[in-house]
Amino acid sequence: MEPVIGLEIHTQLNTLTKLFCSCATAVGDEPNSHICEVCSGQPGSLPRTNGKAVELAAKAGLALGCTVNERSVFSRKSYFYPDLPGGFQTSQLDPPICQGGGLTLADGKFIRLNRIHLEDDAGKCVHDEARGQTLVDLNRAGTPLIEIVTEPDFRAADEAVEFLKKLHAILLRLGVTLGRMEEGEFRCDVNISLRPDSSAPFGSRCEIKNLKWPRPSSMKRCARSVSMTRVKRFSGRPASSTRPARKPAPCAPRRKPRITATSPSLISRPFSSPGSFWRNFARKCRNCRRKSRRVS
Ligand SMILES: [Zn+2]
Repeated sequence: MEPVIGLEIHTQLNTLTKLFCSCATAVGDEPNSHICEVCSGQPGSLPRTNGKAVELAAKAGLALGCTVNERSVFSRKSYFYPDLPGGFQTSQLDPPICQGGGLTLADGKFIRLNRIHLEDDAGKCVHDEARGQTLVDLNRAGTPLIEIVTEPDFRAADEAVEFLKKLHAILLRLGVTLGRMEEGEFRCDVNISLRPDSSAPFGSRCEIKNLKWPRPSSMKRCARSVSMTRVKRFSGRPASSTRPARKPAPCAPRRKPRITATSPSLISRPFSSPGSFWRNFARKCRNCRRKSRRVS
C-alpha cells in the first residue's frame, strides 16, 4: 500500500497583539488577563484587522513562492466549543491571502502548496482533575495564525518530516513566527490515505490533528491505523474522519465535520487593503525569497 500524505501547518504569527484587537499575545500570564470584548466574543464588538499579521502572512507567502492576493475574505466558521466564546472561528476560505507556491526537498521533489490563509486561534480548556472541573482560559483566543496547506504530494513520512523542518527554518529566519513547539506555535494536522499502488485513485482520508512534531514512526502508525480501519470497520472504502493526535487508533472519536465554501455554517466578510499598503510591503519584502533560498 502507498501512503498519500498532505499537511496543514498552523503557525502562530510573531505579533505583539491579537488578530482583531489590541490584546497582548503574551503566554504564561494569569488566565484571562489578556481579553477584551472582541476576543471574548461579546455581541456588538467591532474587530479591527492587525496589519502586522497580514504583513507576516504575505511575507511567508512571498518566501514560499505563492501569489499574494491583494483582496481576500475573512469568513466566520460556526462551531460550538467551550473555548470558542463567539461560537465561530474567523478564517479565510476563498480567496485566501496566498495561493500556490511550494518547497523543493533535498532529492529535488517539489511539494506544492495549495494556499496560506489567516485565522484566529481558540482559547484553551484547562482540566482540573483533582476538583473535577474544566476551566476556560481565553488569553490565546484571537491569536493570529497562518495555516499552510500542502497538496497531497508526500508519498513517505520522511518526506513530510523533511518538509516541516525546512519550512520551520524558513519561517524562523524571516521572523514570521517564534516557532516554539512547546507553546504550540508550530503544529501540524496530517491527512493520510492509502491506495494499492501509485496508479490507483486517492482513498478517503484520515486526519490526525495537532501533532507538535510528526515523526516518521508516528505517521507510519497513523497509516497502519487507516489501513486497519479500512479492513475491520468499513469492509472496503472508509469514510473521511478526523482524530486527535494522541489517539490515532481506529477507536478514537470523530471530531468536527470539515466546513467548505458551501457549508451553511459559513458567513463571509470581504476585506481588502489599500494599494499603498501593498506597495510599501513589496518594498520591505524584496529579500524574502533570497533569505528562504539561503536556508534551503
Ligand atoms: Zn482582545
